[in-house]
Amino acid sequence: MIIGIDDTDSKNGMCTTYLGAVLIEKLKSYGTIIGYPLLIRLNPNVKYKTRGNAAIALPLQLKSSKDVGQIKHIVTATVEDMAVFSDENTNPGVVFIGETGVRGKMLDDLSIFSRRAVQDVLEIREALELLERYGISYHGYKNMRGLIGALAAAGFALSGLPDSTFELIAYREKKRWGTQRQIDDDSVWEADAASSPDTWDTVDYENKRIVFAPHSPDPILFGIRGKSERAVEHAFSLIRSEAVERYVVYRTNQNTDMHLIQASVSDVRDDRSYILNGRVSRSPRTIEGGHVIFEVADGRSALECAAFEPTKNFRGIIRQLHTGDEVVVYGSVKDKTLNLEKIRITSLSQHELLNPLCCGKRMKSVGRGQGYRCKKCGTAREEQVIETVQRNISPGFYEVPPCARRHLSKPLIRFEATVAASSCARWHASVQLIDPHEQERTLS
Ligand code: ATP
Repeated sequence: MIIGIDDTDSKNGMCTTYLGAVLIEKLKSYGTIIGYPLLIRLNPNVKYKTRGNAAIALPLQLKSSKDVGQIKHIVTATVEDMAVFSDENTNPGVVFIGETGVRGKMLDDLSIFSRRAVQDVLEIREALELLERYGISYHGYKNMRGLIGALAAAGFALSGLPDSTFELIAYREKKRWGTQRQIDDDSVWEADAASSPDTWDTVDYENKRIVFAPHSPDPILFGIRGKSERAVEHAFSLIRSEAVERYVVYRTNQNTDMHLIQASVSDVRDDRSYILNGRVSRSPRTIEGGHVIFEVADGRSALECAAFEPTKNFRGIIRQLHTGDEVVVYGSVKDKTLNLEKIRITSLSQHELLNPLCCGKRMKSVGRGQGYRCKKCGTAREEQVIETVQRNISPGFYEVPPCARRHLSKPLIRFEATVAASSCARWHASVQLIDPHEQERTLS
């Protein structure tokens, strides 16, 4: 049996992954988890999300099929007990998919639905249609929106994740919820040093800070992300902190880039996330708030791209771009602007159109279409000149610091592993990795 659950939390507390952790304990005597419980991150641009748009799935090998009714009762009773129903934005959903009766078409439809929940924006009725069509048992509360995430997570448990990582989430004792977290800083740095690069986003080297613990009043003490259960367990064993009430190792689609759709600039729609090839068509400029904006075009259409202030030193790279540079941009589109998560600079233009030089200075424009004039000697020129420019960046792959990293975003440290694993020569040639330790790191 697969149990999918979503939308139980609010900004003021609770967390669906904690509900999952409690349920794992409660369901122990009825069966065992097959593999790992799943933590699925859905479309990061969905406006209904509380924080990270997470849903969970528990794949359970039952001891006896006679317990199905009792298990459903335990799950729904736990959701009813723990979900923050008072929050108008909390609309829990629970689905139960039996092990028998999962046929080819159902598997295909669920797998398409799950992927769309990560890459697209879905309607509640789409989840309901599938649930009814395949006779899947469910409980939808209030407006039932949680059924979207619950069904998507359960769908991934059935069809499998094409790429996955692990997160060990440690939870706090209830009496401490809302108080300051007690974690020994030195032990966190030691744990990172001992487990990196098999774990990531625990500490931020650039800013010399710890980034694996939230600051919100929820039950999470910290989360350790990594490539295997062994790696995250090893880091966990080195951390000294307040008492851990319980912990769970989730398999997850975090840090896999599953949300990104390869597309052309003209195909872009708001609230989706993309990988787009193009050329810088307007140079970067810094706007109020410290955000850096530039434009990419692919011959047919153009799109604004932004490195927002929280992306910190990443903006330094973006400010170096010039018109004509060939780039691949990665990120989510909102209000017709792509919020950069990564950029691959494939070629740097060595030429730039500049005002003519005279008397050691650039001439000034006289006015639109009226040419240029030297302020000192009065010499006039009709047109700008093409000049070879010195570039201060190299082609390569650059990412936002981890403190600005989205859950689904794949860190460069994982590309390195993928490249090594697949010995893909083409990728190897085009990916110039920067030292991951020079990057900032983040948290859940
Ligand atoms: P947390 O990260 O703290 O667990 P959250 O950010 O996961 O919270 P939820 O409370 O689960 O937020 O709310 C997200 C809501 O959006 C859920 O009801 C979920 O079913 C729904 N949802 C998820 N993905 C999509 C999508 N692609 N299209 C439409 N609705 C979606």
